[in-house]
Amino acid sequence: MTDHFLILIPTDPQYVPQPEHAQAANDYLISIFPEADDIVWVWSDTVEFVDPGDNFERVVCPACETELHMSDWQHMMNIAFDNQFSDLNVTMPCCHATGSLNDLHYVWPAGFARFSLEALNPNADLDDQHMRDVEEMLGCGVRKIWRRL
Ligand SMILES: [Zn+2]
Repeated sequence: MTDHFLILIPTDPQYVPQPEHAQAANDYLISIFPEADDIVWVWSDTVEFVDPGDNFERVVCPACETELHMSDWQHMMNIAFDNQFSDLNVTMPCCHATGSLNDLHYVWPAGFARFSLEALNPNADLDDQHMRDVEEMLGCGVRKIWRRL
């Protein structure tokens, strides 16, 4: 039995919406995905890595499009984890471009967040209009992550 989580996170890792706004977006997803096994929103004091589970394939440099060695990426992740992902700035080993771990090209998409809105086995996808509606409710840009476990 494979579970599919549709996870929505703010594009800004530190952003946490007001509880009533989070609940409004939660209720909106329930109306879109009446067959989902569960829909919840969660937040934490610290930034966490939101991974795509078994959908994880590779990480690519956004500056030069080189695929990162997993050991290099793990090294960058370990350093960032030591400060609880409060500082995501990295220098790329391939081309020395600087940027955020949150802006690397994760295949499939992943990201960093203190807040997430999660639908378990929604059996459908969000279209562009749904995404805009959720962004308006949460008051932020939103990234969509599919986690397969
Ligand atoms: Zn590069």
